[in-house]
Amino acid sequence: MLDHIVSPIPTPDYDWQAADAAHHLHPFSDHKSLHQGRVRIITGGEGVYLTDDAGHRILDGMAGLWCVAVGYGRQELVDAATRQMQTLPFYNTFFKTATRPVIALADRLTAMAPGDLNHAFFASSGSEAVDTALRMARTYWITRGKPGKRIILGREYGYHGSTTLGAAAGGMVDMHRQGAVLPDFAHVMPPYWYGYGGQMSPEEFGLYAAKQIEDKIREIGAKSIAAFIGEPIQGAGGVIIPPETYWPEVQRICRENDILLIADEVITGFGRTGRMFGSETFGIAPDIMTLAKAITSGYIPLSAVLVGDRVADVLINETGEFYHGFTYSGHPVACAVALANLDILESEGLAARAEAKGARLRGKLAEALGDMPIVGEIRGVGLIGAIELTADRRTRRFFERRGRVGTICRDHCFANDLVMRAVRDTMVFSPPLTITDDEMDEMVARAARAIAATQADVRSEIM
Ligand SMILES: *Cc1c(COP(=O)(O)O)cnc(C)c1O
Repeated sequence: MLDHIVSPIPTPDYDWQAADAAHHLHPFSDHKSLHQGRVRIITGGEGVYLTDDAGHRILDGMAGLWCVAVGYGRQELVDAATRQMQTLPFYNTFFKTATRPVIALADRLTAMAPGDLNHAFFASSGSEAVDTALRMARTYWITRGKPGKRIILGREYGYHGSTTLGAAAGGMVDMHRQGAVLPDFAHVMPPYWYGYGGQMSPEEFGLYAAKQIEDKIREIGAKSIAAFIGEPIQGAGGVIIPPETYWPEVQRICRENDILLIADEVITGFGRTGRMFGSETFGIAPDIMTLAKAITSGYIPLSAVLVGDRVADVLINETGEFYHGFTYSGHPVACAVALANLDILESEGLAARAEAKGARLRGKLAEALGDMPIVGEIRGVGLIGAIELTADRRTRRFFERRGRVGTICRDHCFANDLVMRAVRDTMVFSPPLTITDDEMDEMVARAARAIAATQADVRSEIM
C-alpha cells in the first residue's frame, strides 16, 4: 500500500509524526502546541467516515473543510479525472486557447447560477477567486472612469481566504495583525444576533446590522467604495446566519449607493444551504459570486468567479486586456471533476436533500442537547450549523477567555471519533450532503457525549 504513496518506501518503524514535526509547516497552526501532541494522520475515507493510522473510524462532521459535499470515495470523480488525465492532463487558457472541460463547465455553471451571472472565470482556490473578484470590481470602476471607487467593505469575522487581499477583505484580526492590513479596506459588524443582538429580536437586529453598512458608507462616501463583499452565511467566522431581514436590506443599500455586491459562496455554494446557491436561499442578487470548495467536493483544487452582465459587459467591451490570471485557470482535469461532481449533486438531488436532512439533524440535536445548561443556541440552514457553548444560556453570556471551552469540546469530539470544528466557543458542523439518517444519529450521539464531557469539565463556570 505504502509504495503507491511514497518513494523510497519507509521502513515499518518510520516515524511519520516525527517527520511531520521536523519538516512540515501546517496552515493555520501553532506548531509548538501541535507537536506537543502527535499529529493525527488520516489514511482513508469512505462516505462520511475517515480512517486514521491508529485504526480509528472518524465521522467527518465538517466534510473535510466544508468541501466534500458528495462524500469520500466516489468512483465517478476518480474516473472523470483519470479519463481527462489520459486525454489531456493540462493545457492553459491564456493564449487564445481553451479546452472542452473548461468551456462545458463555464456553460453549465452560468446556466445553474441565479440572475444574470452569465460569465465564469476560473482559478484554483477560494482565495484566488476572491482576489479575482476584488480586482474585477476595481477594474470595473477604473474602466468606467471612477478610479476613486476603490474601497472594499467587508465584515468582522468575515473570511475570504488567506491571500493578502482576501485576508484584508476578511475580518479576522489575528490575520490582519500578521501583515494582512492593506489600504482601502473597511469593515462593519456581522449580523451575529446571538453575540451582538442584545435585547433586540433577530428581525430588528438584522435591520440594525444592515444599517451599520449604510452608516459606514455615509462616513466613507459612496464615491470611494467599489464593493461590499459578504458570505451569505459566515462560515469560518462561526456559522453566523443572518436574520431574514438582513440581506434584502444590504441589497437595497448597495443598489442605492451604486456599490457592487460580491457574494462569497465558497462555502454556501452547491447545495449546502438547501438550494444550489446561498444567494437563492437568502434572496441575494450579487454582481459577482465566488465559488470553490464543493465545486469539486474537494477532490481536486478549483474555484470560479461568476460575473453578472453589468460588470462583464464593461470588462469585455471596454477594459481591453484584464491583466490577471493563473497558470491553472480552467485546469482541464479539475473542470472534468467538477462536471462529474455536478452530475452527482443534481442526480441525487443533494441540495433539496440538505434542506430536509438539515431540519432533521437540528431536531435530533435539540432533543439530545437542548436541555444542557452549556448549550445556548442550536442554529442552522440546510446542512450547515452551529452550537453555541455558553456560560449562561439565559443572558447568552460567553465564557471568559473566548476559545478555551471550544478547544476543550473539539478535543472531546476527536476523542469520540467525531470531527466538529470550534470557532471561539461555537461548535460548527457541515457534514457531507450524502449523510444518512443512521449516520446523523451517530453524529448526534457522539456530539452529545463530547458536549456533556465539556460541560463536566467547566461545570463551575456555568450558571
Ligand atoms: C475557504 C474560504 C475561502 C478561501 O478558500 P481557499 O480555497 O482556502 O483559498 C474564501 N471564502 C470563503 C467564504 C471560504 O470559506
